[in-house]
Amino acid sequence: MMAYLDNNATTALAPEARDAMLPHLFGGFANPSSPHSAGMAARRAVGEAKAQVAALIGARAVDLVMTGSATEATHAAILGALRVIEETDHRRDHIVTTAVEHPATLALVDDLRQRGWRVTILPVNRDGLPSLVDLAATVTEATALVSMMWANNETGVLMPVDGASAIAHAHGALFHTDAVQAAGRVPVDCGIADYLTLSAHKLHGPKGVGALYVRKGAPFHPLIHGHQERRRRGGTENVPGIVGFGAAASLAALWLDEADTVAFLRDRLEQGILARWPGATVNGGGAPRLPNTSNIRFVDAQGRPVDAEELLMRLDRAGIAVSMGAACSSGGTEPSHVLTAMGLGGRDAAASLRFSLSRYSTAAEIDAVLAELPALHARLVAA
Ligand code: PLP
Repeated sequence: MMAYLDNNATTALAPEARDAMLPHLFGGFANPSSPHSAGMAARRAVGEAKAQVAALIGARAVDLVMTGSATEATHAAILGALRVIEETDHRRDHIVTTAVEHPATLALVDDLRQRGWRVTILPVNRDGLPSLVDLAATVTEATALVSMMWANNETGVLMPVDGASAIAHAHGALFHTDAVQAAGRVPVDCGIADYLTLSAHKLHGPKGVGALYVRKGAPFHPLIHGHQERRRRGGTENVPGIVGFGAAASLAALWLDEADTVAFLRDRLEQGILARWPGATVNGGGAPRLPNTSNIRFVDAQGRPVDAEELLMRLDRAGIAVSMGAACSSGGTEPSHVLTAMGLGGRDAAASLRFSLSRYSTAAEIDAVLAELPALHARLVAA
């Protein structure tokens, strides 16, 4: 592969994370619940790794519940909170989220709506930002929970989570944030949230491991019962995965100091594309964004949207991996719900590609994309 620019879908496992995992795959395989010394060593390793993940968001290890994915963490947060609210505060029957959340949140909230919860989905503007004025107008003493992602996976747009959390808390509502794309890319502090979702595989850790931060004292009922994770998530711990997550989180914390390097490469890519493709525009370009993401809409000489799927396939043939919005919708026919929420028509959304970098991205990869573009432009726009 010449260039991997699909790091919002998933990232390469860091060699440091792999090396930390290996002793727990071979040799040190004991169950962390076992009483013998091998079990205790596994338990210690899990504890140390949780401290590493917690440090990335300014939390304590005891505040984290390790899960099998960020999707599970979000389900545990929302369902775990609402289960308690349902039993303790009947007046609160309302949930608020935004139109650009990951399906992990949106599909769950839709299910909750069918089960009787009142749901408000906040719209976003052309740049992908929800309005805090709208949020303040919708949150009341009947609101149980507000869930807003920290950064959007398709556009990289940074959401107004500080303000959203303040509004939720002013009305006694709980605040959950999906910080999957933000953690390791911009500073993330758990202090604003009652619940915060993380995923290892977006920050060079292994797949199949997530974490949920639960603020001390925040209502929580386990989604999966069992004695592990202080009875908050049953199931034998994925020791190698958790250890890999810890190592990756430590690296990510160091890497935050070098975020400018990624921003520099992303800007070089973005400006290079705009210079080589007349009429191309950046979706969410007017909003504050993650340093690694660029979502670009491509048009022909008349300003009409081109078929980005064809562009994606031609880039793929040149060894360049990019994506159309979310990975799970790639190859599907549905236009991106994020871009359509931003006011793009179906064809405009289908004319957009997401380029997402990581700390392993290189200038050579960026140059490989830019080198392909003039020929692709000639082919797609002339066709
Ligand atoms: N939330 C966001 C914003 C994401 O981008 C993703 C991954 O695509 C997820 C949640 C789901 O993460 P996981 O694959 O760990 O369930």
